[in-house]
Amino acid sequence: MVKHHSALGLASALKPVQPVTLIRPHAAQRAARFFVEKFPGRSIYAVKANPSPDLISLLWESGITHYDVASIAEVRLVAGLLPDATLCFMHPVKAEEAIREAYHMHGVRTFSLDTLEELEKIERATGNATDLTLCVRLRVSSEHSKLSLASKFGADPSEVKELLIAARQTADALGICFHVGSQAMTPAAYSEAMERVRAAIVAAGVTVDVVDVGGGFPSSYPGMEPPPLEVFFDVIHRAFESLPVSYSSELWCEPGRALCAEYSSLIVRVEKRRGDELYINDGAYGALFDAAHIGWRFPVELLREDPSHTRDHGFSFYGPTCDDLDHMAGPFMLPADVEAGDYIEIGMLGAYGCAMRTGFNGFGSVETIEVTDEPMVSLYVEDDRQVASNVVKL
Ligand SMILES: *Cc1c(COP(=O)(O)O)cnc(C)c1O
Repeated sequence: MVKHHSALGLASALKPVQPVTLIRPHAAQRAARFFVEKFPGRSIYAVKANPSPDLISLLWESGITHYDVASIAEVRLVAGLLPDATLCFMHPVKAEEAIREAYHMHGVRTFSLDTLEELEKIERATGNATDLTLCVRLRVSSEHSKLSLASKFGADPSEVKELLIAARQTADALGICFHVGSQAMTPAAYSEAMERVRAAIVAAGVTVDVVDVGGGFPSSYPGMEPPPLEVFFDVIHRAFESLPVSYSSELWCEPGRALCAEYSSLIVRVEKRRGDELYINDGAYGALFDAAHIGWRFPVELLREDPSHTRDHGFSFYGPTCDDLDHMAGPFMLPADVEAGDYIEIGMLGAYGCAMRTGFNGFGSVETIEVTDEPMVSLYVEDDRQVASNVVKL
């Protein structure tokens, strides 16, 4: 793969006609080492955030040994890449055929569920296996998170007792898991969910071997600067230690976004300017789904050899396809004199950005280039972290 020192150097040297995906392996390595060293339990990478084989191998080399997979395609992908990895099938509604293949062909032993029907399905598909780790998914609130995961999955408090008792009979190891929603902005999301875990354990009177706090760990985006991750880890650790089962159980988490958001960004070209609207060559059907559909503001930077001296101004983007839906409201802050022909780097697209691309209408990034400069924002670099925590204090 071609390697460049920086996004700016690359844009100036190549003047790419198509959008270019940039990857920063060092940023993903740093995030993985941070979780491996500082999270007070096991960190399991949620593959859906970015299933790039290069990234998955990189995380493995950085110490991530467990992978949260949600489909049989993800099971096959990770099993093929990393034969020694441990796979956890954490989608609570699986096809029976997928469970069967995962168990019998790929050695998957950990499954999540949120109904008795799913438990029976797992029993049938595995031939009443006795070596399963079964994680009962609780429904918890998403009120502290930017993206809700509260309505679709998770057993209701009224159903949890029966489900835990039934799963306890089948499971070799019994777990309780939840997901507070993606981009949780405060650690209270986890401490409140842990209270649900406590209530479920007490109500069912079962021993629990795994407490899995799921994903939701935030990254930093304009207008969404979270407290440092250590604060989240600390709150989770204390909540876990205060559970009646902590002496005999393991603590797990399933970060997706936090491990890979800083891994990728995108260089786009401005094809036209109309007032405050910039027509760029990637969009809603490319890596900018979240910018279009949930108004996510990604950090942006104008890539010019001679920096602009005009003041920043808020712009919206139109993507390249032929429909009005391909629109990103922003505002994206760029120098006021940005014009057609300029290149812009859009940062923090490693999670749920590059993973969501389609080839609709024939547009999108085809080339991936490695760069060695720093991502625009980082939760793992001291200077940036100072800035982030100052913002929180204000
Ligand atoms: C999506 C997902 C994750 C990862 O969530 P992030 O918010 O990206 O950390 C973890 N666990 C499950 C079950 C998920 O569905």
